[in-house]
Amino acid sequence: MTDVKKNLIGTDINDLQSLCQTLNEPKFRAQQIFDWVYNKGVRSIDDMQNLPLGFREQLAQHCTLDRSQVKSVMTSKDGTQKWLLHFADGNEAECVHIPEKTRGTLCISSQVGCTLTCTFCHTGTQMLVRNLSVAELLGQVISARDIFGEWPTPIGNRHISNIVLMGMGEPLYNYDNLSKALKIMMDSKGLGFSRQKITLSTSGVVPMIDKCAEDLKVRLAISLHAVRDDLRNEIVPINRKYPLKELMESVRRYPDTSSTKEVTFEYVMLKGVNDSASDARELVKLIAGIPAKINLIPFNPWPGSKYERSTADVIKKFAEILERSGYRSPIRRPRGQDIFAACGQLKSESKRACRTK
Ligand code: SF4
Repeated sequence: MTDVKKNLIGTDINDLQSLCQTLNEPKFRAQQIFDWVYNKGVRSIDDMQNLPLGFREQLAQHCTLDRSQVKSVMTSKDGTQKWLLHFADGNEAECVHIPEKTRGTLCISSQVGCTLTCTFCHTGTQMLVRNLSVAELLGQVISARDIFGEWPTPIGNRHISNIVLMGMGEPLYNYDNLSKALKIMMDSKGLGFSRQKITLSTSGVVPMIDKCAEDLKVRLAISLHAVRDDLRNEIVPINRKYPLKELMESVRRYPDTSSTKEVTFEYVMLKGVNDSASDARELVKLIAGIPAKINLIPFNPWPGSKYERSTADVIKKFAEILERSGYRSPIRRPRGQDIFAACGQLKSESKRACRTK
């Protein structure tokens, strides 16, 4: 074993079996450790009571249970909470909890900053610093569970019932770490989230959408925001690489391959930009045949943003056109706006270290 201690948070059952083998312990110990880390949420290796004392001591010599530090907590008047997580290398990312009557949603980040530059999104103004590790992805859920005292993994009602990957970053550009973390989140012996309670939102990294359908089978949300290539090229610039035709072909395959019921389209309402009745009718044509729901998101302004929110009347008319065509199109109530926790408002101060050569 190396001198660098291994963080048990971020390991899966295969990693733990290899660890047990290296330490000359039987394989079944791996499942016991997995249960302590992800089901019971212990903070110390010493608390893993069904492991022999000698093995606990050996584990503590080689491993840690390092959690990301919650550096600050902001609470909105609507109950939404935003946590700033501080990582060992000094970088930071935000994570948001949105409580509702029948559920609690945790919106997690996948990267520090983002390579994409969607023009309606505050995160898009922060250059990519790096991908989050498996431990940091899982750590957002683990820290939230710590805050709510939600250990062991509850079977019934939970403060955190749903997870959405709609925070900072493009999740499909951090696929390997994300896929490992999501499999641990979905393990019934671990963090115990059903795949139907996890939604991955992408701006449209087409080649990874099929992979996600086969491998993860979580719910898919597409950050759509425009129905014509010329406009989407501007608002969601990844469209220049993967235009609408290609995107829609992969989205059409998703429900069948992944056995999910429907795809969600996210559509931010920008005054005078993408909110006309003809945009709504084009949207209906674009998604024809796809079992889908459209979330209409009134634009949430941030310092320096160039857009305005569509009026309530315009949003209502847009929704009516979609509803008349048979699509559920809820208008999302902005949450946590007063603490800059609403959709598209997240950003941290982390910057990529300057290269010296
Ligand atoms: S919407 Fe998502 S992909 Fe686009 S800039 Fe914001 S964080 Fe990045």
